Formats: sequence, structure tokens, C-alpha cells
Amino acid sequence: MRHRASLICALALATTGPAPAASPHQHGTATLDIAVDAGRASIVFDTPLDNLLGFERAPRTDAERRQVEAALAILRDGGRLFRIDPAAGCTLAKVELESAALGLGGGASPARGGHADLQGRYDFDCGQGGRATHVEVGLFAAFKGLQRLQLQLATPRGQMKAALVRPASRVALVR
Ligand SMILES: [Zn+2]
Repeated sequence: MRHRASLICALALATTGPAPAASPHQHGTATLDIAVDAGRASIVFDTPLDNLLGFERAPRTDAERRQVEAALAILRDGGRLFRIDPAAGCTLAKVELESAALGLGGGASPARGGHADLQGRYDFDCGQGGRATHVEVGLFAAFKGLQRLQLQLATPRGQMKAALVRPASRVALVR
């Protein structure tokens, strides 16, 4: 089923032309924006629901409801999911999860022809954010459907784009 869903998504992208760079909906891929400054760090994770659940709608069975709860529990544990370089002294301050299909957060997202997404926003307070050289990301270990993260990184030293591909887990914040 997953292969079939991926194929349908690829076809949908092909017929509508290039997707906006900000948030393409492509199964297996998600975006991760990491911004670190002296006093704080923020991480935004934007993913097709398929990468987390294998389906993109509200759960219909008890098994699916348990699957959703398990995924949300992992996503809410931001301090474990994203381990920022200890040198920066960051602690998780706030987590917000939004997914219209799962009834999370405010505002309905536009229909995507049967597709649905989830966005997680993580705010950290940091003692010396400028000293962060890396972030260990636990997403691949937690979610088998996720293969690739498109990264946008912003630190006091500048901005860059990069990609993290399974099974890698470390995002370097310095070249
Ligand atoms: Zn989809």
C-alpha cells in the first residue's frame, strides 16, 4: 500500500508542476528548519502524515487510534527527539503540534487531494546557543516511513540548506 501511495503522490506532483519549495508534500521526505541564536533555538518539523502513520486521515479503528497516540507521544517528547549540542545548554520550553486531519491545533489546512500533513514546532531556551555545533535528530529511528529531511539551518554564523538521509542522525550546524 505504501508503494502505491508514494506513486500516487509522485504522479500528483508531476501533474501540478513543481511544488512550492517551502513545503512539498512528498512521501518519505519532510522538512526540518533549525534556527539557533544566543538565547534560544527553534525547530520546525513539517511532514506528510504518511511518514508518521502510513495513512493520512483521522484514525478509524482502535489500532489506528493507538498508532496515532504513540506517534504523538514521540513527537511531544521534543527534548528526546531533538538533542541539541549540550555545549549550548538548551532546554525544551514549548511544543506545538498541528494537523487538521488529526484535529490538532487551530485552522484547517487546504485540501491536498486526500493528502494531509503534520507540523511540529519546538522552542528551546539556551544558555549559550551560539556554541551549538550539531543537533542529534531521532526522527529516522522513530518513524520508519521517513527517509529524507530537507534542512534549513540558521545560526549566528549564517544560513545554509542541507539534507539528512536515513540512517544519518546528526545535523551539523557548522561547516
Ligand atoms: Zn500524501
